Amino acid sequence: MPAIGIFPFIFLLGSCTTDPYDLYKKMTKVDSHVHIRTEHTDIMEFAEKEGFKFLNVSTGSGSQAEIDRQNHYARMMHEKYPENFSYITTFSMENFEKPAWAEEVIQKLRQDFEQGAIGVKVWKDIGMTFRDSLGRFIFIDDPRFDPIFDFIAGNDKTVIAHIGEPKDCWLPLDSMHLNNHRNYYRAHPEYHMYLHPDYPSYDEIITSRDNLLARHPDLRLVGAHLGSLEWSVDELASRLDRYPNFAVDLAARVGNLQAQDREKVRDFILKYQDRLLYATDFEISEDDDFENRKASLERDWRQDWKYFADDEIMESPDVNGSFRGLKLDKDVLRKIYFKNSLRWVPGIFK
Ligand SMILES: [Zn+2]
Repeated sequence: MPAIGIFPFIFLLGSCTTDPYDLYKKMTKVDSHVHIRTEHTDIMEFAEKEGFKFLNVSTGSGSQAEIDRQNHYARMMHEKYPENFSYITTFSMENFEKPAWAEEVIQKLRQDFEQGAIGVKVWKDIGMTFRDSLGRFIFIDDPRFDPIFDFIAGNDKTVIAHIGEPKDCWLPLDSMHLNNHRNYYRAHPEYHMYLHPDYPSYDEIITSRDNLLARHPDLRLVGAHLGSLEWSVDELASRLDRYPNFAVDLAARVGNLQAQDREKVRDFILKYQDRLLYATDFEISEDDDFENRKASLERDWRQDWKYFADDEIMESPDVNGSFRGLKLDKDVLRKIYFKNSLRWVPGIFK
C-alpha cells in the first residue's frame, strides 16, 4: 500500500513550495491612484513587467497652470499607452467667487474629457485651505459646486475625492493609529490639525463629503485613501451602506487595514468586495531617480499583495506589532486589483 504513504508526502511538498506571487505574476492588475509626472517611459515598461496598469490622477486645486502641467504628462502617457494608462483631471479654484466660475470650469472639463480624461479629482485643499472673501472655509458640499458635479455625472465620468486627511491629523501624537503618521506630523506641526483648532474639524470635513454623496446620488464617487475613514472599517462600512454611489481606493492606507482586527477587516473586504480599488499613491517626477522610485513601488506592490493573498505573519514599520495576511481568494483579489476599476471608472484603458 505505498500510495497511502506517498500522497500526504506529495501534498506536503506542494504546500511548502507554493509561491505567493504565482497568481500576482499571472493577474492583470491596476494601480488606481498614481501621480506620474515624467515623460520617461521606463516606469511604464516596469509596470508592464509586473502586470500593472495605471490610473493617473492630476491633483491640487490652486492653479490651472499646475493642472495643465500634470495633464500634459498624463495625456502623453495615455496617447502612448492607451491600454495601460488612463487619467483623471482636476479643476482650479482660481476666481471661485466670480459668477462665471462654474461655467468656465465646465468648459475646461469638457475639453479635458474630449482629450481623454475619464474623471475629475477633488482635493483636500477644498475644506482645508480655500476661504471665501469673508474668511469662511469653502467645503465640497457648497452649492456653487453643484453645476460642476451635475456636469460630471451627466457625462458619465467619475469623481475621485481626497477630502480631509487621516483622522490621526486631528489626534495628539500619542493617540495616532500609525507610526508613519506620528513621524510625519511630528516633523510637520504646521499640518497637524490637532494643534490648529481654528481649522475645520475632522467631522465637519467628513460630513461635507457625505453631504456631497447625498446631494448627488447619480454621481459615481471614489473616496481616495479609504475615503479618509481609514481608521475604522465600521465607519467606512456605514458610509458604503448609506451611499450606493460610493467606493474607495486603498492608496497609501493598507497600513490602516493591517493595524485593525484581522477578522473584522477580512469580513469587511468580503462584504464590500465590489467597492474597493487597489492603489498606492505612487509618485514620480521628471528629476526623480528612476531606480530608487521603481524599487519603492516594487516593494509596495509586492508587500501589499502578500498581505491580501497570503496568510503569513508580517510586520511593517507603520504598524506596531505583527499582523497576519488576509488570504483572500482569487475572485476577490481580481475584483480589488482589476475589475472594480473597470466598473467604477468607465472608459478606463480604452
Ligand atoms: Zn494622491
